[in-house]
Amino acid sequence: MILIGGAGLTGMVLGWELAKRRIPFLILEKEERPGGLLRTEKKGKYRFDYTGHLLHFSDERAENFVKRELKLELYKHRRHSFIHLETGLVPYPFQYHLYYLPGHLRNRAVSEFIKARTQNKTAGNFYDWIYSSFGKGIAELFMVPYNKKLWKYDLRKLGINWMGRFVPPAASSVLEGAAAPLGRNEGYNASFYYPPLGIEELILSLKKKVEPGCRREIAEVDVKRKRVFLKSGERINFTRFFSTLPLPELICRSRNIPQNIRNMGRVLKWRGVWNLNIGIRKSVKKIHWLYFPEPVYSFYRIGFASSFSPFLAPRGNSSLYIEASYGNKPEKKITEKMIGGLSLLGIDRTEIDQELLLDIPYAYALLDRETEKVLPGIMEFYNRNGIYSLGRFGAWNYSSMQESIIEGISAAKNLIT
Ligand SMILES: Cc1cc2nc3c(=O)[nH]c(=O)nc-3n(C[C@H](O)[C@H](O)[C@H](O)COP(=O)(O)OP(=O)(O)OC[C@H]3O[C@@H](n4cnc5c(N)ncnc54)[C@H](O)[C@@H]3O)c2cc1C
Repeated sequence: MILIGGAGLTGMVLGWELAKRRIPFLILEKEERPGGLLRTEKKGKYRFDYTGHLLHFSDERAENFVKRELKLELYKHRRHSFIHLETGLVPYPFQYHLYYLPGHLRNRAVSEFIKARTQNKTAGNFYDWIYSSFGKGIAELFMVPYNKKLWKYDLRKLGINWMGRFVPPAASSVLEGAAAPLGRNEGYNASFYYPPLGIEELILSLKKKVEPGCRREIAEVDVKRKRVFLKSGERINFTRFFSTLPLPELICRSRNIPQNIRNMGRVLKWRGVWNLNIGIRKSVKKIHWLYFPEPVYSFYRIGFASSFSPFLAPRGNSSLYIEASYGNKPEKKITEKMIGGLSLLGIDRTEIDQELLLDIPYAYALLDRETEKVLPGIMEFYNRNGIYSLGRFGAWNYSSMQESIIEGISAAKNLIT
C-alpha cells in the first residue's frame, strides 16, 4: 500500500496525480478535514484563512495545474503593499522605493547601498548577506529589524541557501527608485492570484478526485517493519510512505531508527505564528498587506484579506489578519497586544465585529548552519527505508504553495519511472 501522511496541499496533489494514474493509495490526516494550512474557517459572515495564502506562479507546471487541470476560478491582483514606518508608508519591496523616505534617510540609504556594492563582500550568513547586498541604511531601517521580529533568532546563525527567490536587488532599480517613484512592480510576488471564497477552494477542487481518511492521526511509524500505527490503534503496512508531517514529528514518532538520526532531529528548530483574524464594521483602504519592522508593534505583518476577494467579509465590512511569530513558548495575552497595535493604526476596538485567533505551531523552519549539516543525512536515511518526507514542513524548507504542487506532481512521476 502507498501511504501519504497528511492531507495538506502536498499530500492532496500527490493523491490527485496517483488517482489520475489509477495507482491505489491511502491518505491519513489527523484533522477532521483536509487542507492543512490551506483551510478557510467561517466565523459569522466572514471567511478567515490561516493567514494570507496568495498564489504566485513562476513555474508553468504549477500554474497549468491550478488553472488548466483544476480549472480553479481565480482573481488576479497587482500587488499593492507597503512597509509601515513612523515616517510614512514605503511601497514594497523597500529597496526599490527609497524615494518615499524622508530626504536624510534616503541619502544615507543610497550612499550606504553604493558603498556596500562597491566593497562587494561575500557573506556566509543571513545577517552579513543583508549588509553586503543592501548596505547599512536599508539593513537598519527595514531588513534587520523586520527579520529579527519574524525569525526571533540570531540572524548571524541563519544560512543563505534558503533564499532562492529572494535575490539581491538590481543596483540600477534601487538607484532609479531612489530618484523618482518606480513605475513598476518588482519581486517574486509582484502579482498574485486568489480564489473568491478563500484558499480552501484549492483543496476543495482536489477533493473531486481525492478522498483522504480524516481524523486518522499517525501515532507511530515503524521504519524497519514498514508499518504505521494510528492513534486509534489501527495498524497499516506500507510499501512506500510519503510523509508531509513536520519533520520533527516524523522523527519523534519513528520507531526502530538509529540514535544518531534521533539526535540529528533534535537540532531542528522552528517558529510558530499567532494569526489573529478580525472582521471590521467598516471599509478599510485597498491595501493588500503591510510589513511592520518597528519594535513598538508586536506583529510583523497585517494583511487585508477582504482586498483579495469581496466574498471574505459582508458587504460594507472588511477583514484583516495579523501575524506574530513565537519561539518555543506561545505568548499569553497575544490577542490584547495585537488589538492594542491596531488602535495605533486608527482601527478602534468598538469597530471589531468578529475575532478568530488561529495558532500555526509549525510556520517557519529555522534554516541555520547546524540544520544544513544534518538535513541531508536525515533525508537519506528515510529515503533508504522507503519513506519520503515532503512539503514545506516535511522537507523542512521555506517553500510556498507553488513548490508543494510541483513536489506532489514530481513524487508521483518518480514513483512510476
Ligand atoms: C505564515 C505562513 C504564510 C504563508 N503564506 C503563503 C503564501 O502567501 N503563498 C504561498 O504560496 N505559500 C504560503 N505559505 C506556505 C504554504 O502554507 C505551504 O507551502 C503549504 O501549505 C504546505 O503544504 P503541506 O501540505 O506541505 O503542509 P501542511 O499544510 O502543513 O499539511 C500537512 C498535513 O499533515 C497533517 N498532519 C500532521 N501531523 C499528522 C499526523 N501525525 N497524522 C496525520 N496527519 C498529520 C496536518 O494536519 C496537515 O493537514 C505560508 C506559510 C506560512 C506558515
